[in-house]
Amino acid sequence: MLIFEQIRAGGDRNFGYLIGDRDAGVGVLIDPSYSPDVFVERAREQQLTISHVINTHGHEDHINGNTRAVELTRAPVAAHPSCPVKVDIPIADSMELAVGPLRLQFLHVPGHAQDHVTVYEPKHQILLTGDLIFVGKVGGTKTDDDARVEWDSLQRVVAAIPPTATVWPGHDYGARPSSTMALERLTNPFLLAADVDGFLQMKRDWAAYKKRYGLK
Ligand SMILES: [Zn+2]
Repeated sequence: MLIFEQIRAGGDRNFGYLIGDRDAGVGVLIDPSYSPDVFVERAREQQLTISHVINTHGHEDHINGNTRAVELTRAPVAAHPSCPVKVDIPIADSMELAVGPLRLQFLHVPGHAQDHVTVYEPKHQILLTGDLIFVGKVGGTKTDDDARVEWDSLQRVVAAIPPTATVWPGHDYGARPSSTMALERLTNPFLLAADVDGFLQMKRDWAAYKKRYGLK
């Protein structure tokens, strides 16, 4: 039986996650930042041994709980090899990680951060998007070149992940804390862009767009 918890970590409305399997008694923590003790307590309450601590990307607000989480669980850290943490298990594009009967599948999705990965569990169609896709928007980028890279990453995710998959972001920035790929494809203005130029234009117009539609 699946165990899945979205956990409010603190920080800038950060979300982290606990995903595991009750029968196998094993689970992983994803981005247990700001309040690693709370994440480990949730795992303990669910009677899960933590097999891995996983980072979606290396920004401070996603990794600052690693040291404490590892101290409490003794679990190895899985992240992209360029992630600025002590990486025990380097995550390569299209790699799979078994967590009991669950298979976590990774896509390398640079743009917002060059070390960014998404985590997908195909049986339950759960997609953890980190700071790539938020509910109603996408991760910020510093340059047009980074934005082009992010666009390519978004196209890969849209092609690879079924519309029925649920979307679980790294921050509570949207109208609701989670979404589906179908809903994001229909309503997320960045995913509605016709091409990369439209995407870049939406990024430039974002402040005005937000004002027009009363978004925060
Ligand atoms: Zn980030």
